[in-house]
Amino acid sequence: MRRAGRVVREVLELVRSRVKPGATTLDLENAAEQRIADLGAKPAFKGYHGFPCVLCTSVNSEVVHGIPSSRRVLREGDIVSIDCGAIVEGYYGDAAITVAVGANIDPDTARLLRVTEESLKSGIAAVKPGATLGDIGAAVQSVVEAEGFSVVRDFVGHGIGSHMHEDPQVPNFGEAGRGMKLRPGMVIAIEPMVNAGKPEVRVLKDGWTAVTDDGSMSAHFEHTVAVTDTGAKILTE
Ligand code: MG
Ligand code: MG
Repeated sequence: MRRAGRVVREVLELVRSRVKPGATTLDLENAAEQRIADLGAKPAFKGYHGFPCVLCTSVNSEVVHGIPSSRRVLREGDIVSIDCGAIVEGYYGDAAITVAVGANIDPDTARLLRVTEESLKSGIAAVKPGATLGDIGAAVQSVVEAEGFSVVRDFVGHGIGSHMHEDPQVPNFGEAGRGMKLRPGMVIAIEPMVNAGKPEVRVLKDGWTAVTDDGSMSAHFEHTVAVTDTGAKILTE
């Protein structure tokens, strides 16, 4: 899983370097697909329940599961969430980043990105043997809501291993002390999806792209994290 996680990280960093005004989300997809193949890994998303691509690229008010397209041109001031999964010898890695397009991003949107990444770090910091899933959710939620943003409820993190989505579900909200206890050897994907406005989302007619219902901006950061005897080991770093 560490090897799968490293593939995902390498692909995300390559794609980050390709994000610029004028690039299309299909350009990002093509770069990612080539790099996954070059690294001898398999894409985890392409064909998953019929998803057509190796990346999810979700721009501005798109929350998750955006489909890369030659018609989607990135503009200065946009943000794009890039989610990638890879398989190495049957084991999965899954991670996401949200990247600003160009240097002139609106200050509130910049804060949304910072806070979402911070909430992921806070969730990871809660991971240790004996802690609960509720501890993770509460840690994420408190960082997000202290800044006046909202946590998406309709999509959650997940266990991961020889399948991309395994039990348990890992919500980005909850109450400390509640839910399943973490044990060494468990591996989970923690992935806060944070809206600048209200938490409600809806899915577009393409059957995949989830967008904020109020049209506000949305950010997404994700790591695959192993529970160890002493705490958390991030496998997608
Ligand atoms: Mg993901
Ligand atoms: Mg995931």
